[in-house]
Amino acid sequence: MKLPEKVIICEVGPRDGLQNEEKVLSVDEKVELINAITEAGYKVIEVGSFMSPKAVPQMANTDEVFKKINKKEGVEYRALVANLKGVERAIACGCKKVKLNVSASRKHNLANLNMTPEESVSKFKECVDLAISNGLGISGSISMPFGSPWEHKIPVEDVKKIVEAYLSVGIREISLSDASGMAVPNQVYNLCTDLKEKYPEVKWILHFHNTRGAGNANVLAGMQAGITWFDSSFGGLGGCPFVPGATGNVISEDLIHMLEEMGIETGINLDKAIEIARRVQDIVGHSLPGYILRAGKSCELIK
Ligand code: ZN
Repeated sequence: MKLPEKVIICEVGPRDGLQNEEKVLSVDEKVELINAITEAGYKVIEVGSFMSPKAVPQMANTDEVFKKINKKEGVEYRALVANLKGVERAIACGCKKVKLNVSASRKHNLANLNMTPEESVSKFKECVDLAISNGLGISGSISMPFGSPWEHKIPVEDVKKIVEAYLSVGIREISLSDASGMAVPNQVYNLCTDLKEKYPEVKWILHFHNTRGAGNANVLAGMQAGITWFDSSFGGLGGCPFVPGATGNVISEDLIHMLEEMGIETGINLDKAIEIARRVQDIVGHSLPGYILRAGKSCELIK
């Protein structure tokens, strides 16, 4: 089987996971978690988002969190933004990497914003310019390129139009986000192979939700297509506000465990990742769907 020697796992739990919780975590609780994630060896951490506090109250304290976390050299601390205001907040609190997002669903985008996805992306140009002129990195995410609750499958040509819109505003790092949990492995392999070949200048990140149980299978398909950057969430915490029944991302500690057993390097201390997921359960006050949390590591079975 053709596999990479190492992969980068981006912990998105502090944003994608916690934004779906009823409980709003305090700045100190978030700082504790993010510092632990740094110490576990993650190289990319999605700390929060700079959205309207009314729309996403769980992320209202992201600015304070950024100021208080211990930032380790070589670790990317990323935040989700939706507009210029978000980039301004990122600059003000010392965030060095922002991520934009657009829906690949034409129906979803037209209903919400009265624009096509490409028109939405073209409006991101001012965000890109402001970020770059202030020394921030910027990436773009395409939500639901593998399928959406509005049109089931999304035509590959539509995804390519969005990629080209991102390229035309100067974004070269693109994340494919299966927020609806509809992706299946052969589709992931085919789309990633096609996109990698057509746009070799792009750095691709895959962001899967485990809504229908295909998360790790989709990661495997992505690796076989040559992708080496994947998002995951501690304990599998999360959901998606506009997707019925959505669950969280691919489960961080389960993914690290699987990759370790496959001989693929992540640079992350698995025991620490498991500890973090346990701590998140304590803080949010309910159990998380992680498999390793229940079953333990397979190496522990050997007496
Ligand atoms: Zn997500």
